[in-house]
Amino acid sequence: MQPTPVSLPVFIRAVAAAIQENAEEVTALDQAVGDGDHVINLQRGMEALILQSGEFDKVDWAGAWQKIGMTLMTTVGGASGSLYGTLFIAMGKAVRGRPLNLQTFAEVFAQGVEAVKQRGKADVGEKTMLDVLIPVATTLQQMAATAPLQEVLKKVRLAAETGCESTRNMLATKGRASFLGERAKGHLDAGAKTSQLMIGAIVGVLAEDSATPA
Ligand code: ADP
Ligand code: MG
Repeated sequence: MQPTPVSLPVFIRAVAAAIQENAEEVTALDQAVGDGDHVINLQRGMEALILQSGEFDKVDWAGAWQKIGMTLMTTVGGASGSLYGTLFIAMGKAVRGRPLNLQTFAEVFAQGVEAVKQRGKADVGEKTMLDVLIPVATTLQQMAATAPLQEVLKKVRLAAETGCESTRNMLATKGRASFLGERAKGHLDAGAKTSQLMIGAIVGVLAEDSATPA
């Protein structure tokens, strides 16, 4: 399957399932370091996206990402709603008028992550979703032009997992977790975990599609 906006519902369902399967773990993380609402916030967004699924075959990628971003922005709430919303809206802007392939996706994703950095006034090392998004953007940009897709997918999955794990012993300087000081240490960041789950789910769909039958 060549990914087009028509295939978006497949990705959305995979992401929603990954969040659902790990809901308890993520809620426990957001209870330890935040206010415990992160999964409920995201599930509201995923439900809205699933309801919209039929609309993605009428638009191009720019339109689809813009729509996803607006929906996340208006339904998720919390810090993560505006940040995940910003990611997709910026990606929609960046892809406008360009053909989508792995190389352009790497550039477009990097621009989306840049917008999240600006919106959250945060960078790598602050115990947030950016500890996953930034290394994934870097990995994509380093590999997209030359490496085979399966190799890129493997490294992207690894970058997301390593980035998520890196938040465990960080102090938080952004968001609610920053009020906790040293007590934030020892727990993964909830937003880093959901970013890792989303990326893992998307990679899973793409890896299955592009796998050559044995
Ligand atoms: P809230 O913190 O408003 O309750 P959520 O619980 O939905 O919102 O989302 C919390 C997550 O958002 C955190 O785990 C963190 O990954 C991310 N986050 C919070 N503030 C920032 C920020 N300034 N920059 C980047 N990510 C942030
Ligand atoms: Mg929260």
